[in-house]
Amino acid sequence: MNHNFEGKRPAWVEIDIRQLRRNFEIIFADKPGNVALLSVVKDQAYGHGAVTVAKEALKAGAVYLAVATLGEAVELREAGVRAPILVFGERPRNQIPDCVSLGLTCFVNSVAAATDFARVARQQEREAVVHVEVDTGLSRYGVRWEEAPDVIEAVAQTPGLRLEGVMSHFAMSDEEDKSFALLQLQRFRSVLSEMENRGIHVRYRHMANTGGFLDLPQAHFDMVRLGILPLGVYPSQVCRRIPGLAPVMSVKARVAVLRDLRPGDVVGYGMHYQAKEPRRIAVIPVGYGDGYPRVRNRGAVLIRGQRAPVVGGNAMDAMMVDVTNIPGVRPWDEVVLLGCQGGEEIDVHEIARWKGTVSYEVMTNWSWRLPRVEVA
Ligand SMILES: *Cc1c(COP(=O)(O)O)cnc(C)c1O
Repeated sequence: MNHNFEGKRPAWVEIDIRQLRRNFEIIFADKPGNVALLSVVKDQAYGHGAVTVAKEALKAGAVYLAVATLGEAVELREAGVRAPILVFGERPRNQIPDCVSLGLTCFVNSVAAATDFARVARQQEREAVVHVEVDTGLSRYGVRWEEAPDVIEAVAQTPGLRLEGVMSHFAMSDEEDKSFALLQLQRFRSVLSEMENRGIHVRYRHMANTGGFLDLPQAHFDMVRLGILPLGVYPSQVCRRIPGLAPVMSVKARVAVLRDLRPGDVVGYGMHYQAKEPRRIAVIPVGYGDGYPRVRNRGAVLIRGQRAPVVGGNAMDAMMVDVTNIPGVRPWDEVVLLGCQGGEEIDVHEIARWKGTVSYEVMTNWSWRLPRVEVA
């Protein structure tokens, strides 16, 4: 695939840089001044482009970035990003030398990992900056809260390591029921107070993702880790709203072909739609291979500011929509698959419902076959 040529495709993902900037400004105005911002740009900043989002985050005042893989961190370093980068998850041994030499911040959640990192730090005559993740109930990464103080103390005392942070992660922070989040917070606090008793201090204690940032100010500590919010998308229907935030991503395409169906004609693989009367359909050159959900007779796109419902089952590279009730549609008219047109909007939550998933997956799912077009 050659991106120079794919750039001419009549289908693309639009990234509104001006709105991204505005979102960061709004978040900074909302955030207490003593709370630092870590911008989570894993998985290409949820499909928006990691380097773009990272650079805007840093310009706006973020002090930290986070990614999920070594390759993602290397892409940022190669783009000239010198800010601290936290790499989520556990590092296999063969990644430790690169992590240390690139000055990446990694998690060390056991005495064994501390020994491995310290050995590499000694070999490179460098200090390895590390954070400890405390598992307070997500049961994913990190050391269980009851065992955390001993591990934290061992890491703090390991020569060659600089223990800069201690963190935890919520299992559910954006729904109405905050009871488990509050239990996790209490477990994290018990670890922090035990650290206090042992005289261990770190620069960054952090726990809040977007849900925690919006709804649990008591969980802000020294830094918040925001992924979805700067992209202008809320993690749930019930969390706090900040006026002015708006989505950064739209997905657009152009009508490739119009066809007139006669009664009895079927549409698409599997023949899931049959016209009862004359209908006019538009073929859109986007399919599930581009990350559009593989829906059938479900969902819609916007053409001339109106909703055109999907008919039949979507293919890998194409989908069909009914434009019978939209006058004047012509080949190569602009189509909005995600975003606004006229007064209408299709947002990620709506697409997520068609697909039975969450907004996060809808955003990360758009294929890189769709060129990213940045508009400012
Ligand atoms: C992805 C992630 C975040 C960001 O979550 P949002 O809900 O997108 O703000 C924060 N912390 C960790 C550990 C993550 O994996």
